[in-house]
Amino acid sequence: MQALEDRYGRVATDLRVSLTDRCNLRCSYCMPAEGLEWLPNDDVLTDDEVVRLITVAVERLGVEEVRFTGGEPLLRRGLPDIVRRTAALRPRPETSITTNALGLTRTAKALAEAGLDRVNVSLDTVRAEDFHTITRRDRLHDVIEGLEAASAAGLGPVKVNAVLLRGINDTQAPELLRWCLERGYQLRFIEQMPLDAQHGWSREGMITADEIFASLRTEFNLEPAEEPRGSAPAELFTVDGGPQTVGVIASVTRPFCGDCDRVRLTADGQIRNCLFAREESDLRAALRGGADDAEIADRWRAAMMTKRPGHGIDDTTFLQPSRPMSAIGG
Ligand code: SAM
Repeated sequence: MQALEDRYGRVATDLRVSLTDRCNLRCSYCMPAEGLEWLPNDDVLTDDEVVRLITVAVERLGVEEVRFTGGEPLLRRGLPDIVRRTAALRPRPETSITTNALGLTRTAKALAEAGLDRVNVSLDTVRAEDFHTITRRDRLHDVIEGLEAASAAGLGPVKVNAVLLRGINDTQAPELLRWCLERGYQLRFIEQMPLDAQHGWSREGMITADEIFASLRTEFNLEPAEEPRGSAPAELFTVDGGPQTVGVIASVTRPFCGDCDRVRLTADGQIRNCLFAREESDLRAALRGGADDAEIADRWRAAMMTKRPGHGIDDTTFLQPSRPMSAIGG
């Protein structure tokens, strides 16, 4: 086994697999109201192709954790079977999904039985009107039910990811934290990143980690959690003496690229060694061209060699990647 090491000594053990670029919400910081031009069906990897690449990653490249994402991964019909086949690999990888939770009431139990370990649910506000403003859909109630179904199915600890947007939900950090604490969900705030299809992000417009801390500290006492952060993107803080915690993922203002252990596979079979990479490596062509597992593993390792030391959002030469978050897999 030869790991996915890059030129800076970082080793990727956490694989994010996008299962579709489609989504049933239209979060304003991610997608335009009218949606995007979706990938043609033939370009999207089949279930067997996805599982084959995950198998190569786990058995030959040392991947220890597989997170399914998108677009919206629950829209992928084959998800339970893909999870089941992933959880059957040895050494068994940890399995999780990042989801908006729409439809999770119907699938949470089946996913848990298939071997899914955890879910991260995206929820930016618990106010129905603001939920509609952000996602352009009236589905807050379904998300809340989805969260409850995940907990009931044992897919915990359930994590909630929230993005704060100036003038919409930026005053709601304490309210959202209280709501999550009451229900036993682990809340993490994510700084908004320049990954929206509309290119509407601006450094001045985004809510920074410092602003999030200041807002939370008006109502809560936060202390850095003792556990070592390692390669985890979230800085964790105990709330009012613990044991519950809140996390902040400050990708923009406190980048953690030096500890990055992630690699991404897009729904159309491209390896991205960074969210902000501008080049991709085409494993689908290799797969469909008859490459054996050893060759695919070699190509994957080679793809890691061009991983840059940092995402460079603060560089004057920074260029937003051509694919938006929904097509990369967040
Ligand atoms: N549909 C799923 C969901 O809602 O979790 C998975 C895909 S979504 C792209 C994954 C995560 O990326 C969500 O938590 C979303 O809030 C976050 N996200 C999308 N665009 C973002 C941006 N520009 N900056 C920061 N986070 C973003």
